[in-house]
Amino acid sequence: MTIPVRKTDLKRNSIFGYTCNRCLGCCRFKKIQLNPYEIARLARNRGLSTTDFIARHTTNGGTVLRFQEDGTCGFLDAQGCSVHPDRPLVCRLYPLGRHVHFLGVEHFNQMECESGCQGIFHENGTIERYLTEQGAGPFMHAADLYLDLLRRLLEALQDQELEPAQSENVLETVRTVTERPEGGHDLSWIDMDRALSDYCAQSGLPVPADIEAKMTLHIKAVRAWAA
Ligand code: SF4
Ligand code: SF4
Repeated sequence: MTIPVRKTDLKRNSIFGYTCNRCLGCCRFKKIQLNPYEIARLARNRGLSTTDFIARHTTNGGTVLRFQEDGTCGFLDAQGCSVHPDRPLVCRLYPLGRHVHFLGVEHFNQMECESGCQGIFHENGTIERYLTEQGAGPFMHAADLYLDLLRRLLEALQDQELEPAQSENVLETVRTVTERPEGGHDLSWIDMDRALSDYCAQSGLPVPADIEAKMTLHIKAVRAWAA
């Protein structure tokens, strides 16, 4: 579903405030793309490895959160979001969208809310404050790092003249190539646990326990492959 945009080109110091009244209307009929950090956070929340989480709770090879047949997110229950502390970035930002230009310039769009949404916009804050309230910092940092990694992977694939499988989803396209068995490697760019298991076994390094440390090593490993 495409959500209409209400205001564009907002910056972190732009006036913005929003109070969600938890009507749960926005957790339906969405396509939520995931990066490896978001998968790792959700997997830890569910007590799963990222490999098992991807198999159970995602589609498109791990790049999209699985929704149920009736259009609701699989993590929505009667009380609301059952993974709230680890919910993905788009869920934290809604009704804002964040965009980062390849030169690193960031802006935000304010979207129209769902029909029937009971949330209230106000002007008693800024976007920066809203981001802090939503705990978005680590998720934006991870999104920027994985976006940079994705660019490097795409460049590497072009340099190697590899033909990615046809896909509308660039994340899935990169996955199909980086995990292509005939390529002689299994360094998943989307499945952090699987990639680190292989990488650490080969390099003799311990697998970190902390998600941020895992992410740093995962990016290092995939970057090395891309180089
Ligand atoms: S992860 Fe949580 S907030 Fe996001 S769509 Fe699912 S239930 Fe809603
Ligand atoms: S539709 Fe609006 S009020 Fe309802 S849960 Fe989503 S953001 Fe909150």
